Amino acid sequence: MASPATSRSLDRFAQGKLEDLEARSLRRRLIETDRYGPALARRAGRELISFCCNDYLNLSHRKEVKEAARAALERYGAGSGASRLVTGNHPLFRTLEKRLARLKETDDCVIFGSGYLANLGIVPALAREGDLVLADELSHACLLSGTKLSGAETRIFRHNDLDHLKTLLEEERAKHRHCLILTDGVFSMDGDLAPVEEMGELARAHDAWLMSDDAHGIGVLAGGKGSSFIGGRKADVPLQMGTLSKAIGSYGGYLCASQPVVDFIRTRARTLIYSTGLPPASVAASIAALDLIEADPAFAALPVKKAKAFTRALNLPEAESPIVPILMGDPDKTLAASALLEEEGFLVTAIRPPTVPEGTARLRFTFTAEHEDKDIERLTAIIRDKILIDRAAE
Ligand SMILES: *Cc1c(COP(=O)(O)O)cnc(C)c1O
Repeated sequence: MASPATSRSLDRFAQGKLEDLEARSLRRRLIETDRYGPALARRAGRELISFCCNDYLNLSHRKEVKEAARAALERYGAGSGASRLVTGNHPLFRTLEKRLARLKETDDCVIFGSGYLANLGIVPALAREGDLVLADELSHACLLSGTKLSGAETRIFRHNDLDHLKTLLEEERAKHRHCLILTDGVFSMDGDLAPVEEMGELARAHDAWLMSDDAHGIGVLAGGKGSSFIGGRKADVPLQMGTLSKAIGSYGGYLCASQPVVDFIRTRARTLIYSTGLPPASVAASIAALDLIEADPAFAALPVKKAKAFTRALNLPEAESPIVPILMGDPDKTLAASALLEEEGFLVTAIRPPTVPEGTARLRFTFTAEHEDKDIERLTAIIRDKILIDRAAE
């Protein structure tokens, strides 16, 4: 047991950190939120229309998806009992892996416990000391955590800057054994797309391995195939990673890649080996969600269509994904704007550092298939009349 003195210093440490964060409006709190239907959430007894769920197709509440989860729960139990490499590899995993490999046009696929766990496992399995990792500066936190864990030398390139990436490759590639290039396919806090086609060409020219994290692309871009398939062509992205927790409406992470790569990851990624397999119900839900997406590409396209209508109405740069940021800069202003929208019945979370760079606190809107046009129009009017006007006045 810790001595009272130790625990006092522990509590003092935590308290001091909290006070510092509070003073900078950067403390975060969990708020109980009851999501009970498509794009609807109840907080403190109030019904709100949510523009901050990543459940882009509202599939987490879809009847067919819930029924598939329920059937798997009854047949295979509530949990999977062990790591997939021990006894946790229930039959639904294979079905889902084959479905994802087909969607992403790769040999095979491997499922992880979450997107975060996938990146924490994949990057250190592929890169270590003596290797080079080049990552976009706005890459998701878990890509950067995986990179840190890998021990590889890391260089960050400016956001979506192909020239900077090319320079780093020319200067650094030859000094290292292997080189891994990391980017989000759709940037999670900005909603813009990476130029994966050009990055694939650069990677190939320098014998580097490109990995795209398509957490926000699968299910909603290119008929559900994701950001590596825009314009009907498949970009040369040999490592296609993503999550099942956003448009797929369930939980879990995946990597789609060639047979040797997938087989290698299955045997070497620590977050796959030492973590329990996903619950059967989650896997079954993902399979059912993919059925719905593949059967109805027009439905899959709705979130981006609605996001585009929103950006057009507000004269913002045209949305490329279901994610639209409105930059406010200052955390206090962002919190105030979020509170104002909540008063009006809309749930839009304030995104603050360190999730986004210092000075770029923002409102982040996500659009879903079942948002009603009349609600989007009312939201747009409030933003135009009450938020953008203030911002422009500064
Ligand atoms: C959400 C997200 C992840 C993490 O996926 P989880 O399945 O939620 O752990 C990884 N990468 C990006 C770009 C994300 O947006």
